[in-house]
Amino acid sequence: MPGLLLRPPPLDCLTSFALNAAARSRTFPASKHLLRRLSAMNRDLLPATFTPAALLLATWLTAGVTGTALAGPWAEVTAPSTGLTKVIGGVSSGCIAGAQTLPAEGDGYVSIRRYRNRFYGHPDLLRLVSDLARKQARRGPDLVMIGDLSQPRGGLMSSSHRSHQNGLDVDIWFQLAPSAAVANRDTANQADPPSMVTPDGEGLSPLWGDDQQALLKTAAEDPRVERIFVNAAIKRALCASDGDTAWLRKLRPWFGHDAHFHVRLPCPHDSSECTPQAAIPAGDGCGSELDWWFSAEARQPAKKSSTPRPEPTTPAACRPLLSTN
Ligand SMILES: [Zn+2]
Repeated sequence: MPGLLLRPPPLDCLTSFALNAAARSRTFPASKHLLRRLSAMNRDLLPATFTPAALLLATWLTAGVTGTALAGPWAEVTAPSTGLTKVIGGVSSGCIAGAQTLPAEGDGYVSIRRYRNRFYGHPDLLRLVSDLARKQARRGPDLVMIGDLSQPRGGLMSSSHRSHQNGLDVDIWFQLAPSAAVANRDTANQADPPSMVTPDGEGLSPLWGDDQQALLKTAAEDPRVERIFVNAAIKRALCASDGDTAWLRKLRPWFGHDAHFHVRLPCPHDSSECTPQAAIPAGDGCGSELDWWFSAEARQPAKKSSTPRPEPTTPAACRPLLSTN
């Protein structure tokens, strides 16, 4: 059976390097100026310590590298809590009670890397995934590969994400899969589907096509979606090629996110303890604000030392979720 085109093994080693470098960033830290600038953009996607060079590598080696340090007890929880669904706290310091489980397969999608046990979320998120996948099913037989949502009760993960903590985030891979069996087989060992960005980080790879654009546009135009994180090269290419740029507003450029995009929902109405995100700026974001992502500052490590910023505190209202059914 034909397989997915995955990242070749030598790059996986470099992926490890990028992750390790992020973890070692005390020796290679970002300047305060840069951290301030990035924090103002998408603070929740920054790791506790941050290395621009490592994350630049991540733009073409991995998807959404935001290696973080200590997951604490949340990664040990195996099942959602019972009772009403409630989102508590924010995307990078929160949890979810009564999360629902995304089925392993559905019309138009396959949920991959289930061994990570990150396929839980708010019902709004599960409905969105199903609806996006159904629209893809109408386009053709290939399946959307759904990546991480949240852990059973949310909280900090042991790897890959700072956010995804409160059941409102989902990663969706750009590459489509010919079947669930192929998708599962080829991502069984943490392998990532391929990047859609050229190795120099400047443009779209030949793998990018109508399917990828349709998937992204369908998500961005869905009124339930608040924002989408995507590699700056993808956003820039779409800004240049699509006459209608209104739908690009929700696309927020970020490191990585070249093989998948990250969809985030706003706080649901049933969750008064959910911490909302700042509103995204007006306009399509296609102007000079994109330039920074291709600047030397974005690509070069800074030399000044800085201390790691503290992890956000998990809300007290999350704690009972670690000890109840
Ligand atoms: Zn994500």
